[in-house]
Amino acid sequence: MLNEMTMERFGKPVAGCTDEELYLAALALCKQRMADVPYIEGERRLYYLSAEFLVGKLLTNSLLSLGLYGEVQAELRAAGRSMAALEDAEPEPSLGNGGLGRLAACFLDSIATLGLAGDGVGLCYRYGLFRQAFAQNKQWEKPDEWLRPQSWLDREDVSFTVPLGGVTVEGELYSIGVPGYGGAGKNRLRLFRLKGEDETLVHDGIRFDKTDIAHNLTLFLYPDDSDRQGRLLRVYQQYFMVSCAAQLILKELAERGHAPRELAKYTAIQINDTHPSLVIPELVRLLGEQGVPFDEAADIVADTCAYTNHTILAEALEKWPMDFLETAVPHLVPVIRALDERAKRRFPGKDLAIIDGTGLVHMARMDMHYGHSVNGVAALHTEILKASELRPFYEIYPEKFNNKTNGITFRRWLTACNPALDAFITRRIGDGWRSDAAQLARLAACADDASLDELLAIKQGAKRALADYMQRVYDITLNTDSIFDIQIKRLHEYKRQQMNLLYIIWKYREIKAGRLPRRPLTFLFGAKAAPAYILAKDIIHALLCLSQVLREDEQAAPWLQLVFVENYNVTKAEKLVPAADVSEQISLASKEASGTGNMKLMLNGAVTLGTLDGANVEIAERVGEGNIYLFGKKSDEVMRLYSEQAYHCADYYAKPQIEPLVDFLLSKPMLRAGDAECLGRLYQDLTHKDWFMTLLDLEDYIAVKERLFADYEDRRAWAGKMLANIAGAGFFSSDRTIAEYERDIWRLR
Ligand SMILES: *Cc1c(COP(=O)(O)O)cnc(C)c1O
Repeated sequence: MLNEMTMERFGKPVAGCTDEELYLAALALCKQRMADVPYIEGERRLYYLSAEFLVGKLLTNSLLSLGLYGEVQAELRAAGRSMAALEDAEPEPSLGNGGLGRLAACFLDSIATLGLAGDGVGLCYRYGLFRQAFAQNKQWEKPDEWLRPQSWLDREDVSFTVPLGGVTVEGELYSIGVPGYGGAGKNRLRLFRLKGEDETLVHDGIRFDKTDIAHNLTLFLYPDDSDRQGRLLRVYQQYFMVSCAAQLILKELAERGHAPRELAKYTAIQINDTHPSLVIPELVRLLGEQGVPFDEAADIVADTCAYTNHTILAEALEKWPMDFLETAVPHLVPVIRALDERAKRRFPGKDLAIIDGTGLVHMARMDMHYGHSVNGVAALHTEILKASELRPFYEIYPEKFNNKTNGITFRRWLTACNPALDAFITRRIGDGWRSDAAQLARLAACADDASLDELLAIKQGAKRALADYMQRVYDITLNTDSIFDIQIKRLHEYKRQQMNLLYIIWKYREIKAGRLPRRPLTFLFGAKAAPAYILAKDIIHALLCLSQVLREDEQAAPWLQLVFVENYNVTKAEKLVPAADVSEQISLASKEASGTGNMKLMLNGAVTLGTLDGANVEIAERVGEGNIYLFGKKSDEVMRLYSEQAYHCADYYAKPQIEPLVDFLLSKPMLRAGDAECLGRLYQDLTHKDWFMTLLDLEDYIAVKERLFADYEDRRAWAGKMLANIAGAGFFSSDRTIAEYERDIWRLR
């Protein structure tokens, strides 16, 4: 099969090809087979609008979904070649940033697998977010050059004209096939690209001319918004995305033989966070052009659109100054004003206005007035939205609010990334769990000694595989007899990587005082910081400096290792997740909307060390308190501290247990490894501000982490916890999440 393709493309058999050629042949094979897979049909279609789709590499998943994996693997083996080498040759698409984009990718997989007719719609970024490189113990940003002449992208014969303030541009449509698992047919991820995009505008890393809208719109995801020009560019970019999407939706509605007035009957639109919110006024505008009166158009759009909220950080709820919109999309301004006036007539409260008294346009408020559903992404998150952040809207629209706890696709996060564990499960409970993840619960009955020992052996194998990878790619040696404690997620103060840092400093000082741990400890981090987020970059710097300090200390190095994996992305996650013993989920309670890394790690038998935040709450409910390590203040207490301004980090810093840990940031060894300005800024923040209350939970964190490491030594009992986590993970399948979106919001069938 693959051989025919290599002969046809390169005139060589599999054995004679380079890994790159084998990858290209496998890509061509998948695309050829994918062409024969029928599109999923449905009278009513979903469009999932998102600025990000963090899809990861597509080869393994495509082979699995198309049922080709086994055959291709056998062919490669027979020729003495490995699938892993092909996988390495594939560049990872750089179309997302973190959890929100990865969620969108998991959802596309589940939408297709459940046989629902629904496409993702977004932008095709030339250089994605950025590629992270480390030098001088700091993060440097480079353009991520992931696009190749031959790729998963197909050009669709569709393009749209998009009017912008001062210039008109064109969006060209590309798409990637999204096959459902188990022969369910396929959908598409549809990505618009600016015609005439000019990559020569980019210089010095990821800097570029932010004013040349006609040529820069799709160069980067989330271009730097620390200045006015950058923020304005984001408005242009968002409008470009949704204008293309709206035109596509209306074109396909017409092609299916329906009138514009029937939009809501035949279409569902999910707005993933506020980046696509301008689709609402854009659809009202376009329906108006097609003869639908304003009030009717507004009602139709409201019946079509639904909004997912991903954050309770007020600074992350997008608000654009009216003059930005007047500059970027002047033709949309009258529509937004009319929508605002219409909402104000019904609900005059000032907390409810789309355009507030200072001229800021609130995107989430537009979504809530002119969408029929508002959902949070974990039970606790939705309750907090209703009780505080979005309370005025919950009071006027209680029927719109609902919860959809996030999920992950088990095809990628178990079957593809951890085949040994997949086989272990299937040998015990059959393969029904692949389409009905709730069946994983049956594993709980398999806690016999032989099974537990096998589970430990599988984890050991995954740790060895990660160690091999780290040796090969980074020349870093990991001790596979150590505990692998893993924190992988975007770098943000609320996620509190800095608290983990302070624990490692504590442990280092214990070792220096002669109190050795029972077994060596390895702390693995993966995280990108937003280029303009200074303090996040300072935290990366401190971690990299500490890594060097430990490496260079002969007494500590055998016991304590800190490894920061460069350029964290889906590919790295797929290698780290199966190898984790401990899953660090230590956000400040009430701040993490859901998290999905927590789900990937539990599914792969890691035990969570976490706060009662986001979906951790639901994980704890499902595994039971003996199988998760919880610490820290609860969300209601944290919210009280904020509202009463009652947290003062100086009170905690003054404690004899804490002060030396924070002071260590400015110790001689740290200053030798790093930059006094960056370390000093972090020190200043922790001692004078600490907005995300790192020191509040630090002592409890240290105590519970010590208990966890002690418990790890009873290997069979620990394996029992691993099994309980895997058995309890069924609820967190994105198939369950999508079935709920379908039942409560989309109703495609
Ligand atoms: C799952 C995932 C995330 C989200 O991690 P959280 O711990 O939920 O924040 C971010 N980035 C990548 C590459 C992922 O795979």
